Amino acid sequence: MLRGSVGLVTTMGALHAGHMALVETARAENDSLMATIFVNPTQFGPNEDLAAYPRDLPHDLGLLEVAGVDLVFTPSPDVIYPAGYQTYVTVEQVTQGLEGAHRPGHFRGVATVVAKLFNLAQANRAYFGQKDAQQVAVIRRMAQDLNFPVDVIVCPTVREADGLALSSRNVYLTPEQRKAATALSQSLLAAAHAYEQGGRDPQVLTRTMREVLDAEPLAETEYVSAALAATLEEVTTATDELLLMSLAVRVGRTRLIDNLLLPASLNTREGLAALGAI
Ligand code: AMP
Repeated sequence: MLRGSVGLVTTMGALHAGHMALVETARAENDSLMATIFVNPTQFGPNEDLAAYPRDLPHDLGLLEVAGVDLVFTPSPDVIYPAGYQTYVTVEQVTQGLEGAHRPGHFRGVATVVAKLFNLAQANRAYFGQKDAQQVAVIRRMAQDLNFPVDVIVCPTVREADGLALSSRNVYLTPEQRKAATALSQSLLAAAHAYEQGGRDPQVLTRTMREVLDAEPLAETEYVSAALAATLEEVTTATDELLLMSLAVRVGRTRLIDNLLLPASLNTREGLAALGAI
């Protein structure tokens, strides 16, 4: 049973060490811990991977039990969206660019399900990953605008040893594609290096990223972006504001995303407060 302060970790399952880092942090900071596993249909576009999305509930429940989660909510879609359902949450500005521009309706689905899970869980703190940086900004905005009494906490992206950000979608990759997928984190590191050398022109930083991606024949770049960390507005002229460098890349049929805050020292739990801090 849930008692005292409640932490919440929302997931779509197929759990990996990135999810488990959120769970471990939440476990340490709350009396009780609730996790949700729900592959939310409203955040997938018609041509996206809803049907193929990896699902392994027994495996996930085992991991969550060992990690000390008190309650796991694993609703079916008709529990969340029963017949007659017709209410959606739209966060207007911070959803416009980046993922929002390439996945129409995605953040409407995310904001709606997270609002419902916030209401159901009544948690004190909810934990999200930097991996989905724009999602963090959207949820922070929503929580503030709709007066959800929950602290939104962001944990840094967990990566494989070679830099690839952990993702449930990485299982789609063939061994060859898996190697090629390191181009994403390498492009971010190249931008971080240029920034460290004094580079502040966003166009130079994004060009640096593109050069790394273009050198990988299996990687097809969807977008590369430099945006203000506070608002996620894209920038094209030199600035000393904190930046969010982000990208979406297709490797074969698999769409991968990654991001890095600049200066790179910000990619910590403390520094991540700058993300979506409008
Ligand atoms: P998902 O199951 O993909 O919806 O992710 C559930 C939560 O885990 C979200 O808050 C994600 O941002 C977070 N997450 C996913 N991958 C990672 C990762 N590699 N590192 C940290 N958090 C992650």
